[in-house]
Order: sequence, then structure tokens, then C-alpha cells
Amino acid sequence: MRFRVLGSGSTGNATLIEGGGTRILIDAGLGPRSLAERLLSAGVDPTSLAAIFVSHEHGDHAGGAASFSAKWGVRLCGTRGTYAAAAFGATELAGYDVLEAGASRRVGALTVTTIRVPHDAAGPLAFVVECDGHAIGHATDLGHIGPGLVKAFRACDAVLVESNYDPGMLRDGPYPWSLKERILGAYGHLSNGDVGRYLASGLGDACRTVVLAHLSQKNNHPELARMAAEEALRRRGRSEVRLELSAEEGTGWIVVSRPPGEPRRDGRQLRLF
Ligand SMILES: [Zn+2]
Ligand SMILES: [Zn+2]
Repeated sequence: MRFRVLGSGSTGNATLIEGGGTRILIDAGLGPRSLAERLLSAGVDPTSLAAIFVSHEHGDHAGGAASFSAKWGVRLCGTRGTYAAAAFGATELAGYDVLEAGASRRVGALTVTTIRVPHDAAGPLAFVVECDGHAIGHATDLGHIGPGLVKAFRACDAVLVESNYDPGMLRDGPYPWSLKERILGAYGHLSNGDVGRYLASGLGDACRTVVLAHLSQKNNHPELARMAAEEALRRRGRSEVRLELSAEEGTGWIVVSRPPGEPRRDGRQLRLF
């Protein structure tokens, strides 16, 4: 199982996940042409996608979803709230599967579980994607990390989480105060410190890779996000966890599968035969 961020941040989010021959996207916030180009440069034919899971209706996550769905014949999946708020009903889609928060859905070889997250959107979701005993947790755009998300991500081998802003940079930055309040609020975005607290106290023992995503260009600096996460992992005695930051244009492939026979840190040995 492997994944690859194709775009991250306010200019457009999309993450490609592949396992057991099935490929899905989480979010399609890039224009359909640039999303297709980034898929092709990752060696993936856009028509080979089994589905696009849309986390919420904001343009940087859903902006390219309808036209991509229509052009390449790929179904969308999301909540009823996302469908209505993104006005997906006004467009010709290849199809739309309604997701309920807290439920699981099988797509080919992948199982996708949804978790409701606190964000100022109509039905925002985080996801856990599983394949053959491995799992990836994916959470962008949320005001805080609640116990439900911590629990859902506990057994994940890799976690992608937003590290959106540094509070000092946000307060001193160019945004109007109303927008600053929104970002800082319980239904806004995660700060570097929020992520640090999660890594220090909530990260599951099975996790080997953490990807920091959706960094604000105006209110954060990659080195601040990295330092906060590294410090938290060190405090937790987890310096062996691989830490990656996603740039706006994404990452390379990140392989999640564990080498055969290597024991899990949480003590659960995978069955090899
Ligand atoms: Zn966003
Ligand atoms: Zn959002």
C-alpha cells in the first residue's frame, strides 16, 4: 500500500492512495487539467481511479471534483452536506455515493472509514483507508483533534494531518481579524502546536510515517511546522517515525507496507501465512 500527495494547501488538495490494485483520490481541489497531469506524472491513468472521496465542499478540496468526475468517468463519494454545499447536483457527475460519518465502505481492495471532524463546512470528514492489514489516516481542515479521531487513527501505519498555521504568524499576518478568528476557532484549522500535542499524546504505536500537509503559505513556515512535530515525537520517544512535509505540489510516493516479518510496535504480529 502506498500514497502520494498531489497537491496541498490553499491552492488545491488531492491525495492518491493505492493498494491491492485499487486507486482512489481523497479530494480534488486542483483544476481537472492539472490534476490529470499530476496523476499522469505519477504514472496513473485518470480513468483507473475507482472513486474520489471528497472531504468537504471548500474549493481547495472540491473545486475540481465535478468536472474531473464528468471528464474521466470517476464517481464521487461524500456526505449529503458536501453534495448540497458543493452544488454537485447542478453538474453532470459520473455518480455520487453518499457517505455517513462513522461508516465504512469497500472500494475494490480498499476499505474507507469516515470520521466526522470539526470544521466550518456542511459535512466534513477525515478518512482511514485500509488494505491488507495496513492503514492510512487522512485529516485536513479541522479545528481540533477529538478523541474519536485519535481512536480511529490509533492503528494507522501512516498519518497525514494538516499543520496549518503558527499562531504568532497568524496573529501578526495579513488576514482580516474575522478570518483569523475563524482559523483559530474550534471549527477552523490545526496549528503546529495542535499537531505537536497530538503526536506527543495521541499517535498510535503502529505509526511509522507522519506527513504534515495543508501548511499555510502566509501563516506558517515549513521549518516551524517541522520543528514542532520533531520536538513532539522526541518528547514521546518516537524519533524513529519518518516525518515528511508536503509542499504545495505534493510529495513522492510514500510506501506504507511493512517489510515482511517485522513485528509491529503495538505488539500485534501480522499473519504471514
Ligand atoms: Zn482546505
Ligand atoms: Zn476547509
